Amino acid sequence: MSNTKKIVLVGHFGVGKSSLIKRFVLNEFSDNYMVTIGVHISKKIVKINNEELTLVIWDIEGKDDLEKIRPAYLIGTSGFIYVIDPTRIQTYQNFHKEYNFLKTTFPKSKILSVANKMDLIDVASFQKQLNIFEIKLDFITSAKTGETVEELFLELGKEVL
Ligand code: GDP
Ligand code: MG
Repeated sequence: MSNTKKIVLVGHFGVGKSSLIKRFVLNEFSDNYMVTIGVHISKKIVKINNEELTLVIWDIEGKDDLEKIRPAYLIGTSGFIYVIDPTRIQTYQNFHKEYNFLKTTFPKSKILSVANKMDLIDVASFQKQLNIFEIKLDFITSAKTGETVEELFLELGKEVL
């Protein structure tokens, strides 16, 4: 018996949602910005505690306001990855509002929050910034170097199983 779970990446334009998926699914990265139009769906089978789990990963158009995403894209989601870009404060100044929107609209879904592009920042000073904003993130990743990307998806897989 195989399990299938829907995973959706959310966050502003350009935070690296598509790149995280590309890194995880294909182990590739590109510096070119390819705007995501509508939705792209990819699949990857992972093994968690000897159990096969099919992650169906939805890559949707970035929206600066989560509430503007089409509800149909979000329905039935087992796990969200909420991505911010540590180099652009506007991608996380509404962190609490957006996180709470997801939590209350999809109370049964898991949510992991992630700052991507860690290759571009000094992680220690970014942590200080997060403390000021009272933001607690689950992961800091780089789709470019691949750092912590696999861990992120596998942790979400574990949580949604
Ligand atoms: P999306 O709009 O959230 O899907 O963002 P994309 O995945 O299209 O990435 C936006 C831009 O950021 C692209 O030019 C990527 O090459 C770049 N990018 C994505 N992830 C990283 C990362 O971890 N490090 C760096 N340096 N650039 C990244
Ligand atoms: Mg995209």
